[in-house]
Amino acid sequence: MSKKSSPEMQAPPLTPDCALCRSANRASYAVMKRLNASDEEISELAQASITQVQEHFRTCAPIFADSIEGTDAISASDAELQRLLVDATELAYAATIAGQYSAAAAATSCRGRAGNEMARRAELRQIHADALDSCQPDQPELWNEKVSDFVARYLDFLLRERESV
Ligand SMILES: [Zn+2]
Repeated sequence: MSKKSSPEMQAPPLTPDCALCRSANRASYAVMKRLNASDEEISELAQASITQVQEHFRTCAPIFADSIEGTDAISASDAELQRLLVDATELAYAATIAGQYSAAAAATSCRGRAGNEMARRAELRQIHADALDSCQPDQPELWNEKVSDFVARYLDFLLRERESV
């Protein structure tokens, strides 16, 4: 196992005594919540009380009640990945409860790929952070190859920009 910390898997827990968690339609309730359905609408479909619906999204699956949004392209992409991870987990639970094991396996596989991609991104960010941490701007002779290469390409870019003016 790598010592690097992997991003936390925010899997919504299954609560045994929660009517929505036990339901084979659990994933449907999550999708409804994602599409801003009211607690009342979800309670009608789930044949559960509004209190049960609120409790489900407060304790069992709070991530569906929050909007996950990034402010820039990279964090938006990370947010999409996080959403895919959570949705695939939700789908895996629902398919398992419904006894649809091939669908559960597919969802679990998707969840694994999303988790791997998140771990890969975290590792790359750490590598880039380490590369910059070890370099001082006034000591180019000590820059590592990655930073030297980046600065060279940046200077080329600046020169091209200057020529085009
Ligand atoms: Zn629940």
